[in-house]
Amino acid sequence: MKVLFAAAEAAPFFKTGGLGDVAFALPKEIAKHDDIDIRVVLPYYSSMPEKYREDITEVRHFRFQQGNKNVYCGIKELKMDGVHYYFIDNLEYFDRPSLYGEWDDGERFGYFSLAIIEMLEVIDWIPDVVHVNDWQTAMVPVLLVDRYHWKDRLKNIRKVLSIHNIRFQGNYPSSMLENVFGTSFNTFTDDGVKDGDDRINYLKGGINFADRVTTVSPSYASEIMTPEFGEGLDGVIRHNGWKVRGIINGIDYDINNPATDPHLPENYETGDLTGKYKSKEALQRELGLPVNKDTFMIGVVSRLTDQKGFQLVEAALEELLQTEVQIVVLGTGDPQFEHSFRYFEDRYPDKMRALIKFDVGLAQQIYAASDAFLMPSAFEPCGLSQMISMRYGTLPIVHETGGLRDTVQPYNQFTGGGTGFTFSRFDRDDMLPAIYNAMHVYYNDKVSWYKMVDTAMEKDFTWKDPAQEYIDLYREITGL
Ligand code: ADP
Repeated sequence: MKVLFAAAEAAPFFKTGGLGDVAFALPKEIAKHDDIDIRVVLPYYSSMPEKYREDITEVRHFRFQQGNKNVYCGIKELKMDGVHYYFIDNLEYFDRPSLYGEWDDGERFGYFSLAIIEMLEVIDWIPDVVHVNDWQTAMVPVLLVDRYHWKDRLKNIRKVLSIHNIRFQGNYPSSMLENVFGTSFNTFTDDGVKDGDDRINYLKGGINFADRVTTVSPSYASEIMTPEFGEGLDGVIRHNGWKVRGIINGIDYDINNPATDPHLPENYETGDLTGKYKSKEALQRELGLPVNKDTFMIGVVSRLTDQKGFQLVEAALEELLQTEVQIVVLGTGDPQFEHSFRYFEDRYPDKMRALIKFDVGLAQQIYAASDAFLMPSAFEPCGLSQMISMRYGTLPIVHETGGLRDTVQPYNQFTGGGTGFTFSRFDRDDMLPAIYNAMHVYYNDKVSWYKMVDTAMEKDFTWKDPAQEYIDLYREITGL
C-alpha cells in the first residue's frame, strides 16, 4: 500500500507546534511496516537547516497552470530514518521569514495543495491514500474530486484528513477558486467549500470531500460536534459524523527519552531520579534561581495563547507566587502574556522565570527539571506536552478537556493512584486548588507523589498503537 502524507510542517526540518511533531513521528512509525510505502511531502521553506539541505537532492522540476498563472515547481527529496520525503520548492511562496502568517497564505497553500497532486505523475508514483493535515492541505481532497477526477491514474486515490486544531480553517475569497485553484464554482455550496460569509473554507472542503476525517483524540472528536468547540464547523462535523474518528497522538520515544536525552546534564530513568534532580539544580543555576532540589518547580512549555489557558495563569500568579514555588515559563505568543509573565519575573525574581523564546533544548531541560507541568488549555485537540512531561516524571496539572482528558489520569486521594492533577471547570478558582493539591502531595505525601511519578513514566505513549489505527483506517478505505 502506498501512502502520501502531506503537511505544512514536520520536525526536525520546520516546526511551530504539535503538527510538526506528528508529521515526523507518525510516518516514521508507519514506515516500520514493510508492506506500506509511506512518503511525506512538505514545502521547501528557506528556513530548512543547512545540515539537512546538504543531503537533499533534486528530483525534477516542471511548471503547471495555477488558475491564471503558470508556476514553477521543483521537487526535491531526502531519505531519513526510513522515511522518504519530498519537498516542494518555489521561492516565491516559501522563501519567507515565517512558515505561516504571510499576507498570501491562502495562495501559498493553495499552490502547495495543487503541487502535491501535480507532482504525482511527474515522479510516477501514485499513492493509494493521500493523508492530508489541517487547513493548509485540506483542499487536496476537494481538488482530487473537482479538478482531477478525469485523470484515470488519480481518480481512485483515497483521501484522509486529520484535524489537529479546528480553530484554524483557512477562509479566503471565493474568487480563489478560479484564480488559484483553476476550478469552476461547482464546489461552492453549503455542503462543499462555502462558509457562512460567502467565502471558501479550506478545512470545511476537506471535511466534506475526504473519505475519512480523523482528529487527534477521541474526546476532541466528540467535542468538535458541539457549538462550544466546533468553531462554527460543528454542523459540518455532525453531518459527516459517520466518517469522523478520534485517534490519539503518541510522542516520539527516541527524542523524548530521559535516559538518553542529550539536552540533560544527567540522564535518568524510572526508579532512579538522581539525574532528574541534577537537571533541576542545573536549570536553577542556569536561570539564576535559588538552587534547591526540594522546592516545588512548575514548568510551562507552550505557545502563549488564549487556547492554552494563560488568562487563568495570569490571574492566578500573584497568589500562587506567595507560596513555596518556582515557576519557569518557556514560550512565545500573545504579547499580553509575554509582558505579564515578564512583569511577574521582575516582581518575583527568586520564584519566576519568563523565557520568551522557542528553544527545543531548553524545553527538554524544563520537562526534566520540573516537578509539575501546568497546561490549563481552554480546549486541547490532543496536546503533546503533557505526555512528554509524564515521560520525564513531571506530573501534569491540566484542564479536563480533549486529549488532556484522554491522557492524564487524575490523582485519587484514596488510592494514591493517578498520573496528574486535573480540574473540570475552566476557571482560575478551579485551577488553583488543583495546583495546591499537587503542591500538598509533593511536600507532604512523598509516597503517593513518587508512586504517581513511576506510573506516569511507565505509561505507554508510543506511536505503535495509534500508527496501527491509521493503517487499519487506510485498509478500510482501500480494501488493501
Ligand atoms: P500545540 O501544537 O497546540 O502548540 P502541543 O502540546 O500539541 O501544542 O505541541 C507543542 C509542541 O511544541 C511540544 O513538542 C512542545 O514541547 C513544543 N513547544 C511549544 N513551545 C515551545 C517553545 N517555546 N520552545 C520549544 N518547544 C516548544
